[in-house]
Amino acid sequence: MKITDNARTILEKRYLKKENGVPVETPEEMFRRVAAAVAGAERIFNPALTEAQVEEYADRFYRLMTSWDFLPNSPTLMNAGRELGQLSACFVLPVDDSMDAIFTAVKDAALIHKSGGGTGFSFSRLRPKNSPVRSTGGVASGPVSFMKVFNAATEAIKQGGTRRGANMGILRVDHPDILEFISCKENNNELTNFNISVGLTREFMDALARDDYYELKFEGRVYQRLKAQEVFAEIVNHAWANGEPGIIFLDRLNEDNPTPELGEIEATNPCGEQPLLPYEACNLGSVNLANMVRDGGVNWDKLADTVRLAVRFLDNVIEINEFPLEKISVMVRGNRKIGLGVMGWADMLFQLRLPYDSEEAVELGRKVMAFIQKEAHGASRDLAGERGSFPNIDKSIYRGQQLRNATCTTIAPTGTISMIAGTTSGIEPVFALAYTKNVLDGASLVEVNPVFQAYVEENFPPEQARSIFNRIAAGVRVSEIEYIPPEMRRVFVTALEISPEWHIRMQAAFQASTDNAVSKTVNFPSEATREDVRRAYELAYQLGCKGVTVYRSGSREKEVLITGAKN
Ligand code: ADP
Repeated sequence: MKITDNARTILEKRYLKKENGVPVETPEEMFRRVAAAVAGAERIFNPALTEAQVEEYADRFYRLMTSWDFLPNSPTLMNAGRELGQLSACFVLPVDDSMDAIFTAVKDAALIHKSGGGTGFSFSRLRPKNSPVRSTGGVASGPVSFMKVFNAATEAIKQGGTRRGANMGILRVDHPDILEFISCKENNNELTNFNISVGLTREFMDALARDDYYELKFEGRVYQRLKAQEVFAEIVNHAWANGEPGIIFLDRLNEDNPTPELGEIEATNPCGEQPLLPYEACNLGSVNLANMVRDGGVNWDKLADTVRLAVRFLDNVIEINEFPLEKISVMVRGNRKIGLGVMGWADMLFQLRLPYDSEEAVELGRKVMAFIQKEAHGASRDLAGERGSFPNIDKSIYRGQQLRNATCTTIAPTGTISMIAGTTSGIEPVFALAYTKNVLDGASLVEVNPVFQAYVEENFPPEQARSIFNRIAAGVRVSEIEYIPPEMRRVFVTALEISPEWHIRMQAAFQASTDNAVSKTVNFPSEATREDVRRAYELAYQLGCKGVTVYRSGSREKEVLITGAKN
């Protein structure tokens, strides 16, 4: 197994089994543990299998991961084959309008965080601030005040759990407290364990287009009428200021809801890529596209084989997954949602010598994801033949067909697993070709993008290569390095040099063939205007994205990614 120092450090810090704070397994043993646990599901499905046949699956899964062709989401690596046994990254919990329901959700979220999962909530069912509370004669404190309770609980769990704990808070744009919600993260020190998104409705988007008013309402009662343009300007203003709130298009999420009879989708997981029904969870996994290149082109055969084995892997994960709540087990086993996606897209484009911000790259992205979607659904249909369709199929849009999983594809951020695989995250462009990344617990890692490094080392004498890396690490852009040929300067383009339009067009190209949603941050340079942000939001809506997150460089005090001296 070829493993980078960075990957080893990350695994030692948070993934490997430890006793008294000291790792008691090697990375190889960790992958053996995960592979064996996931292969164990084969035995459950087919008790007639021999031990040797189960081991054969374990070997295939081991090779799938240790070749870095595919990795499952972090909780699977951390917990498979161990006592905790909770393997999903994404959960959505309902928050109903009673004290009992609210604090049940706080408790359930705490149990999920402890096991490394992230939780999303819609707070839209909570009555607005100052509404009467019948039993006490007092007044309700409203969704934002309760979010602070969830935030504090997450903060407390941080210390003991495997991951920091992450939440998504969503409020419908027609909730009477929407203006308070939009500004609730204005102060960067509050609600630090939440990402927030406004749930935009079609009604709102239509009012926006007509420059009209829309209604704020709760349980049928209209509280106020606001101008859609003014509320939208508030959202844009805050997103411009510090990246929050993001937006999600609720009607669009529900158009793709595979099981509308089981309920409406009101929320997503923390990073927005996984819309789920209340009490649903989803386990994700990502194919490493950087490993799917051969002779200057896409290695389609390898990609197909990888996707098919990955779908089997993820379906197995559901079978051995142990959830903290019975209600979640029931929902998950009924729909069997999985979310296969990609990482290493920018590295693939580097290898193919295609600039991220080009028609060719967007078209290839569309083609690659359509291919993955087709293969993933094919694999899920084959599994249905072997193991049966997901139990709720007759309550789904797939009624009368065969499919093992209500959804197959999701594009996750791959924040940590892409570092373990040594590639670029999700479908994001490279943020910097050489950078320092602050990881867990304030440690920092220095990285030169491997494809760029290989290109430079092949084409320049060692001294010049070193000088190039030094300059880039100090904040100089490739586009400013004269002796790199112009067409190669175009290829090695980085996130902030790519206009928001191209970011969104790429997101839309991948969304077109993704069952769930796409995690993507649209990066803006610090001098971008509010109008630039507004245009990006509108373009995302026009091009069929399910949501958008923007980030303007330098707008939060402590950034996760820090480039060289320039930023
Ligand atoms: P990874 O690369 O670690 O597997 P991703 O960055 O792809 O994870 O994130 C996928 C999902 O995992 C997120 O959308 C969120 O639901 C969950 N998640 C990510 N980070 C955390 C965290 N620190 N705590 C809890 N859940 C998280």
